[in-house]
Parts: sequence; C-alpha cells; structure tokens
Amino acid sequence: MDDNSLSEKIKQYQREAQEREAKFLAEKYHLEYLDLSVYPIDPEALKLLEKDVVEKYKIFSIYRTPRKLYFALVDPSVEETQKIIEDFRNKGYQIKVFVVSKWAFDNVLKKYQVGKKERKILTKKIEIEKEFLKDYQNKIKSFEEARQIIDSFLAKREETNRILELILATGINFGASDIHFEPKKQNLLLRYRIDGLLYEIFRLPLEIWRTILLKLKVLSGLKINVTNRAQDGRFSIGLDSENIEVRVSSVPSQYGEMVVLRILDPKMILVDLEDLGFREEDLSLLKKTIKKPNGLILNTGPTGAGKTTTFYAILNFLKSPTKKIITVEDPIEYRLEGIDQTQVNPSSGYTFAGALRSLVRHDPDIILVGEIRDKETAAIATQASLTGHLVLSTLHTNDACGAIPRLVDLEIMPKTIASSLSLVIAQRLVRRVCLKCSQEMTPTEEELKKIKKVLGEEEFKKIKEKGIKIKKPKGCKECRFLGYKGRIGIFELFLIDEDFQLQIEKDSSYLSILNLFKKKNLKSLTKDGVLKVLEGITTLDEVERVCGVI
Ligand SMILES: [Zn+2]
Repeated sequence: MDDNSLSEKIKQYQREAQEREAKFLAEKYHLEYLDLSVYPIDPEALKLLEKDVVEKYKIFSIYRTPRKLYFALVDPSVEETQKIIEDFRNKGYQIKVFVVSKWAFDNVLKKYQVGKKERKILTKKIEIEKEFLKDYQNKIKSFEEARQIIDSFLAKREETNRILELILATGINFGASDIHFEPKKQNLLLRYRIDGLLYEIFRLPLEIWRTILLKLKVLSGLKINVTNRAQDGRFSIGLDSENIEVRVSSVPSQYGEMVVLRILDPKMILVDLEDLGFREEDLSLLKKTIKKPNGLILNTGPTGAGKTTTFYAILNFLKSPTKKIITVEDPIEYRLEGIDQTQVNPSSGYTFAGALRSLVRHDPDIILVGEIRDKETAAIATQASLTGHLVLSTLHTNDACGAIPRLVDLEIMPKTIASSLSLVIAQRLVRRVCLKCSQEMTPTEEELKKIKKVLGEEEFKKIKEKGIKIKKPKGCKECRFLGYKGRIGIFELFLIDEDFQLQIEKDSSYLSILNLFKKKNLKSLTKDGVLKVLEGITTLDEVERVCGVI
C-alpha cells in the first residue's frame, strides 16, 4: 500500500467515525440524522444565516421555501442553535432539524465561501424605482403610448440616460420575455417578444443606441472593446423587493452589435404542474410515471414550446430532502431551490455527455438533461434510466411519435428504447384569449368542419348536441389591445406500455409508431388545442398558428 492510498484510508476511516458520531447524537436528542454526501444543498438556503454564525455554532439551513426551513447542525447541545431555530419557528416557518457530521459540516463551510463569491459576481444591478415603474405602468397601456413616451424622453436631453430604464420597465410591464435591439442602416429597431410573438415597438436614433449599448455591456459584464464576436452576460433589475434576472447576448451584425435581452420571470420556477394545461387524465398519468424511481421521460417540441417550464414544474413536484436531483443545462436559466444545477460549456469541452457521465456517479435519484442531441448523451441517458435513475430530457422532433425514430437515429437499439423509455410528451404553447374582451360566437361552417375533422365524427356529434360556442379575440386595456393574454400548454403524450414496447421492437419507424398512436385513439397536439378552443381558453386561429392549418 503506498502513502497516498494509506492516507486516503485513514481519512475514510475518520469520516466514517464522524458519521457514526452524528448518528449517535441524533438518536440521543431524538432528531433525524442526515448523510449530506447524498443530499443536494440549496445555495439559497445557505444564505439564510450569516457565515460567522454558521461557523461559530455549526448550524446552517439546507432547504428553504417560503413556508419551510430545514436546518442541519453538528451538535444539538449547543444552546445558541436552539435559539436560532426558535426564532425562525416564531416567524411562522415549519421547521425540521437534522444532525450531520463534522466532516459534512466542514465541506459545506467551503461551499458557503464559494457561494458568497458567486453572489458577488451576480450583483451587477440596475435599479428601477418603484415610483418610476408604477408611473409608467399607468401611462403605458398600449404600444402606441409606449412610443409616445419614448419620444418624449428623446425630446428632453436630460431624460435620454433613463431610456434604458424605460425600455426595461416597458418590457416588464408588457410581460415581454425578450427585448431585441437590432441596429439597421438608419436607426435601431426595438422589438419585444410577448407571449411568443415579436412586436415592433420603436426605432431609436443610432447615437442613443450607442450609449444604451455601452451601458448594457458594462452592466452585463461584456467586453466593451469586443464587437466582432458573440458574447453572453447577465445582470439583474432591482425592483423593490424582487430582483429580475436578465440574460444578455450580443452578436455581431452588418450594422453593429445586435443585442437580445431575455427577461427571466421569477414566477416561472413556481409554476405548478396543475397550471401548465395538462388535461386531468394526462396529469394523473404524468404524476404516476414521474413517481417511479427509474425510466426515461422525453419532452419534444421546438425551442420556446415550454419544455423547460414543464420539467421545472416536475422537479418542483418531486423535490424532497430525501431525493438527490441534478440538472445538466445549457444554460441554467432559472435557479431552483433544493436542486443541484450544473451548466455545460461545450466550447471548453464540458459537454452534455461528459457532464452526464460524471454526474451519474454522484448517485442522483433524478437527472434532468437539458437536451439529447448526440449519440453519446443518448446512450448515457438511456443507460442511466435503466439503472435506477429517473431521467428527464428533451428532443427536437415534431411530435411525440417522432421521439422513437430519433432515438434509433442516435443509435439506441429498439430493444433498449422499449425497456428504458417510459413516457413521451410533445408540447406547444398557445396564447390564451383575453377573458375581459373576447366574444363568444357560434362557429362558422368552415370552423365547424375543422373541429369535426380533428375530433372525429362521434365525438363531434356528442359535443354538437350540447351546442358549440367558440371565442374570438377583440382587444382591450387589459390585454394591451392584443386580444390575448398569457399562454397555456397543449400536449400530446403517451406511455410506453406493452403495446408500444412490442411495436418499437417490431418496427420503430415513424409510421408504425404513429399508426399505433392512432389505433389507440390517443389525443394529438391539435386535438388538445381544439378541446381548449371549445373550452373557451384559446382560439382556432391560435391553434392553427402553432400546430399548422387543420
Ligand atoms: Zn382584452
């Protein structure tokens, strides 16, 4: 035995002794013992107590929601720890206390320092005063009003330095997900993406754009002198109590740097599975499947179809201190409490496949892989799902059935697909028709024909007897005269049951899977959309825009 492995052995022995000690203390004080080496620590929870308190009393928070707090401590006999816990209990938190080993504590303390450093990098912030925002929230009810106000700012020289704030405030006000700054020959085109669609808001003089660009680059940590290659950065908008994260990406274009700001809505991570738009029967099928300890769940659809939100909602649903959840993303958009998130960096060689390979060794219960786009990732993901992990990932295919031939393309054996794949989802987002201004109408002959085509003779008949009404958008202050407000998912999904397993092994071509899908009378994306039209949630136009003409 060489020195290295001897000292490793000793360390290992010391560690085990400390874990035993922690177990003993937990029992003595009627508390639960927790093995922190398998428990993901939430960086947000770590921030609860100041570092000197953590260091002095050997206590920290490992899990934190608006209602619950979990603490880990080394020595329950330290009186101060009881005081700290009591304080939070009195504030109305539900509290759970675990005993952890000294070894685990020392490791967390290291993490704590790293966590602090990270936080510093992220503090570049632009403050928008509540008054300012409120003022413009009342004034800007339509794009036209936004244009007038930006115009009035431009007219007054002293106001030009607040134009960026105004642009951001308007974006937040309209619920925009992205703000596009596109330099043209004569001026800068400013566009907002709202509920998935781009709207031209305004054109700015190029000299004003240059000052805004400089401000944006400084804020988001982009190199000012670099203009000929793509750069990414972040900053946050401070709005009173909450911070809104903004991801910045700049790309060179013919007339200078083109910049897109993605506004990350913090409410996105709090979305419940129940609110995504799954029909009741689909939701119960989904819940049943994700509760299983293994299997591969794929969500298909183009970028912007809401796949990430669905997975985040699934992770939130599954999250528990007894489960280890790891994500591999590109990039991490939203930070989730209680979940270990990692970000790949393909340009530096840290790929999905590489990240996944090393993370599987961390013995997670649930793994979210942002996307399966190469053979290696496909192979590791399917293997992991066969060996006791629940794996969630996305694929770029047109519909749910397409996932199977796509996996075959990625050189996964049909037999392996049949045994690893448990559920396939396809999804899109449709805009919700504004409830304030939409009007209920009797559908035209042509519309009835379309509804009938999608539902099929029998189902159509049943619905027609009850009388069919559908909604038409109009436009009001509430929806900023767009006729629509917010979005909802439409879904198709199927469980890989025995029938599908046999079919995949027999013939994994797209047509063979689609035939079985139809034979089983499963609900397509378009059908889910049309059902939501009949329920008055969206419009037929919207379903056709997203799913193609019926
Ligand atoms: Zn409206």
